Amino acid sequence: MPVNSGPLFKILELEKKKGFSDTAVFGGLDKFLKLWTNEASAVITNPKQVRRFHNIFSIISYTSMTPAERQKWAGDVSVFLEELNSPEAAKATTKGKITVAVLPGKKLKTVTAAANQGIDVPVTAIKGISTVLAGKFEKLGVNTVRDLLYFFPHRHIDYSQRTYISKLIVGQEQTIVANVWEARIDFLGGRRSTIADIGDETGNMRIVWFNNPYIVKQLTTNSSIIISGKVGLFRGRPVFENPEWEPADENDSIHTGRLVPVYSLTQGLYPRTVRKILKTAIDEWSPRLGEFLPQQIIERCRLMPLSQAISQAHYPDDDTLKDKARVRLAFDELFLLQLGVLNKKRDWKKSQPGQPLRIDRSLLESFIKSLPFGLTAAQQRVTGEIMTDMMRPQAMSRLLQGDVGSGKTVVATAALLMAVSNGYQGALMAPTEILAEQHFNTLSGLLARNGNIQEDGSGIRQYSGFLPQPLKVTLLTGSTTRRKKTELLKYIQSGDIDIVIGTHALIQQGVDFKRLNLAVVDEQHRFGVEQRSALRQKGYNPHMLVMTATPIPRTLALTLYGDLDLSVIDELPPGRQVIKTRWLTPEQRESAYRFISKQVTEGHQAFIICPLIEESDAVQAKAATVEYERLSQQVFPDFKLGLIHGKLANDAKDDVMHRFRNGDYNILVATPVIEVGIDIPNATVMLVESADRFGLSQLHQFRGRVGRGPAQSYCMLLADDPSEVGRQRLDIIEKVQNGFVLAEEDLKLRGPGEFFGTRQSGIPDLRMAKLTDVPILELARKEATALFDDDPSLKKPEDALLVKELGRVWPKAGEWS
Ligand code: ADP
Ligand code: MG
Repeated sequence: MPVNSGPLFKILELEKKKGFSDTAVFGGLDKFLKLWTNEASAVITNPKQVRRFHNIFSIISYTSMTPAERQKWAGDVSVFLEELNSPEAAKATTKGKITVAVLPGKKLKTVTAAANQGIDVPVTAIKGISTVLAGKFEKLGVNTVRDLLYFFPHRHIDYSQRTYISKLIVGQEQTIVANVWEARIDFLGGRRSTIADIGDETGNMRIVWFNNPYIVKQLTTNSSIIISGKVGLFRGRPVFENPEWEPADENDSIHTGRLVPVYSLTQGLYPRTVRKILKTAIDEWSPRLGEFLPQQIIERCRLMPLSQAISQAHYPDDDTLKDKARVRLAFDELFLLQLGVLNKKRDWKKSQPGQPLRIDRSLLESFIKSLPFGLTAAQQRVTGEIMTDMMRPQAMSRLLQGDVGSGKTVVATAALLMAVSNGYQGALMAPTEILAEQHFNTLSGLLARNGNIQEDGSGIRQYSGFLPQPLKVTLLTGSTTRRKKTELLKYIQSGDIDIVIGTHALIQQGVDFKRLNLAVVDEQHRFGVEQRSALRQKGYNPHMLVMTATPIPRTLALTLYGDLDLSVIDELPPGRQVIKTRWLTPEQRESAYRFISKQVTEGHQAFIICPLIEESDAVQAKAATVEYERLSQQVFPDFKLGLIHGKLANDAKDDVMHRFRNGDYNILVATPVIEVGIDIPNATVMLVESADRFGLSQLHQFRGRVGRGPAQSYCMLLADDPSEVGRQRLDIIEKVQNGFVLAEEDLKLRGPGEFFGTRQSGIPDLRMAKLTDVPILELARKEATALFDDDPSLKKPEDALLVKELGRVWPKAGEWS
């Protein structure tokens, strides 16, 4: 069925007469265009035409264009309409793709039939991908055609502006179209290379491809080629060295003359190959990508169609379309993220109601009074928020954010005390043994103030004073002996133990609580979504409090943890010392060592953080060991040094930390795995190597390891040769002590990908979305919430494809599949 282009032709004619004033149809052209494109899109099936169609008609708004832009656009439309309705013209535009030109009818059929086929097939389905090549793509995490379509370039080089030989500017990336006069092989630097003499109407010049004799065969004399690249000078004359090039008569340029994608590659994959394969993949497969978003949302948010967005993300026609493509794809990611998060929230709400607690005010007050310090206003406020939550019949789901040292543990302890006073059990889970142990001791300090503490060989501590009956607390970690553990599990199950503090050991099989009603997770970013929910499963829909010292800006927190309510401790206890922070150049390393010596001689302890080399524990460990040897033998021969890195077994790590805490070591050499939350009050100085390579938030976490005792503490940041951004970062951390301010700055400087490793947190991958894109973020939130309000179980037929997509993105959410 042909496209009915008559009315559109007429209207454009009329517009032309009226000076493109958008007055040809009543109410403006946009309404008409929407109707017309809807109709037309149902009829156009040739993938190439579909692409062109989208390129032209996703202008979104004729009304908002200037008359000049309208005129240009109308020209494009006319050309397209003519091609659409004339088989001859179609043949001309698809020159070189013989199958389409000769057998248009047949080709159309195949494409339609294939439209129902999934894109989740191995990449070998693509022409030109052998199993060997597929193996290389696998290394990049690309296994299926879908993976390939979503394997976005990390940037584009702009070769889109064509210039002429006489106008070339040395040192810039430029594109020309030229004629090949002669191409030959010559030895340059002892290697066979290709040299070509070329020319256009403004002059002649030379191209050199060093160490590449193969190109010569492809450069036929008198053929026309496009060349893109940087222009250099040789003997005072401009020359292209190793430029990208391709025949000029090709339909669609891939490597030159346009915005050319740049992909991250792995060994054995060449840019030209990858670009070519992606072009084939996109041309063949992207038209088969169906929309999973409900049509209304696409329209309301003026989103680019998915197939076009995929194609424009790789091979954008211009910067505007590239940006629109990114917006669409980012919206998809954030929207699906939101829906997943909302879904989880709904699951909790709809599962059995939680069990409300009665808050015993006088008990709470006597606990607070018993503390050796007064709570800060922020601690009081969040304690109130938590108590109010726990009084409700719905289970609490709250994220408690507070900077390093802001005093989250006391707040958690108050909540645990309330749970126990109501006859329930509480649990506190920490990411490492040493932290769990530290909590066990901290709680002792807090709970024992008002009475006695008793401990027998069983591993259970009993406190009297707050409650009529003794309060029983225990510690359960991986290194709890089997015999002791069997014993403890029995008491946990019978309800004889009130509070269990532990590591992952808490969520293992065989740990059964009698009546768990408050689960606290510390340093929650170190746990995945799954582990959090495993702890939740240990109770009968218990109240849940998750804590983090990695502050996340509010918009971001709402998106990532939209399933949680948010409490923030935004002030530190009074009198906290400012940790004196300085960034140093390599020449100052010796004086940094002298400073450490001085501190150690005065009886304090020091951390030295080794440089971040790469994301490999093994490599890190090796480098740290070398550095440890060097420091022990050459720099600090008179001191005792300890070493901790990620390759040590857990008990070995704990052993090192214990020794350091006990003062057996003066200096601890550590990789960046150094535990969060560790309290070594006697440590007063830290030296961080390659500090410019860490993010601000991470540096802030490191810095939080010192300054935990009364003595003035110091943080020295060594940077060998910081980049501009690196310098900015170091300047900021010198001046700013507030973790939230640092997190915001970090996000601005580094972007969310680095700032927030989404993978480990169990959150779907974000490739296009920048979490600083607040407008898209908010739009996605708004739409997701509206959709959920309207169709909470996503049972409407128009949401079916969306449900399928959610199942893919959130495979473990269960509900979707
Ligand atoms: P974080 O929030 O990093 O987990 P902690 O709970 O470990 O912080 O508290 C850090 C230190 O501050 C602890 O030694 C704790 O006893 C102390 N602390 C907590 N609250 C206050 C307060 N209001 N005033 C003084 N010291 C406090
Ligand atoms: Mg803590």
